Amino acid sequence: MSSDWRSEVLMEIYNIDLHYHAGQERQPGLTLKDYIQYAKTTGRKILGITDHIGLYMPDSSSKKVVLYERSINGLLQYRQEIEELKDEYPDITMYFAPEINPAYDLNSMSEKVIEISDFFIFELPNVREEDSIISNTENMIKRMYEMNEFCNNTGKEAYIAHPFRSSVNIKLVKKEIEPWITEMKPGITKIDLHSDEIKKEENYYGFSIEEINSFFMFDVVEFGATAVKLNLSVEINGNTQQRIRASNLPAPLQMLWGAFKIMKEMGVDFVPGSDQHGFINMVNNNRMGGYVPWDCFVALGITLEDIKFITKLKGYKII
Ligand SMILES: [Zn+2]
Repeated sequence: MSSDWRSEVLMEIYNIDLHYHAGQERQPGLTLKDYIQYAKTTGRKILGITDHIGLYMPDSSSKKVVLYERSINGLLQYRQEIEELKDEYPDITMYFAPEINPAYDLNSMSEKVIEISDFFIFELPNVREEDSIISNTENMIKRMYEMNEFCNNTGKEAYIAHPFRSSVNIKLVKKEIEPWITEMKPGITKIDLHSDEIKKEENYYGFSIEEINSFFMFDVVEFGATAVKLNLSVEINGNTQQRIRASNLPAPLQMLWGAFKIMKEMGVDFVPGSDQHGFINMVNNNRMGGYVPWDCFVALGITLEDIKFITKLKGYKII
């Protein structure tokens, strides 16, 4: 890849998917090539091909049926299959980017895994409803420091995956939606109807920082400040956007975009990723994949030129 690829290829946010699962959890009967072909037909040109590193741990307690051996050898095989497809898909830039769960001991990672990986995707600890905003934030920040140390030690890049997913799961997905959430007035409606009365602090799609922190159960400002300080990019994750949209409630989506707006004003760098795992309805063969949330980038005024993370990757070496 030449160093000035931006001027050669006019790319859009939706062409870049740095969170594309295609490994252990592939849908029945589908190959890695099927996944890359689907990426191609859905306009993806830069791919962070990932898989959960925990699914390659021999001592995993999960009973999940997996496609590759649960070992470093399994991960190497997946990595090798990606390598072998690169010639067949010259228009797609493929990076190998294992996803690291919050409990994974970073010191246990073998040199080989570090060597074959182009970058890493870090999940942060989930927020917990029973914990305070302060303690949820502290848990996340603790892992961000570990992540920063890991990057410094290994010389590899890493970004933070879906920081809002666990909050969205609690509020909208894994439990009953509580009445106060259903009754929340959409922020944009508030702005449209009362634009002269809207308070200055409700500047984030009609919501205030306090309302946003309280809904997501962590301190978005502290989190954003730490991301900037440690030079860690943050994902705008398609799967989280889809989960929120599926609730039909405008306010949570506006608060999510508001949270990103707060962070953008602080100088946080963002990464686009779909977090797609499967893309076919196995019953009727309909295509039902996940999307790169380009619309959120448009709403926030973030263009490809703003994304610093991607520029750090261009010098990657093919193994
Ligand atoms: Zn993922």
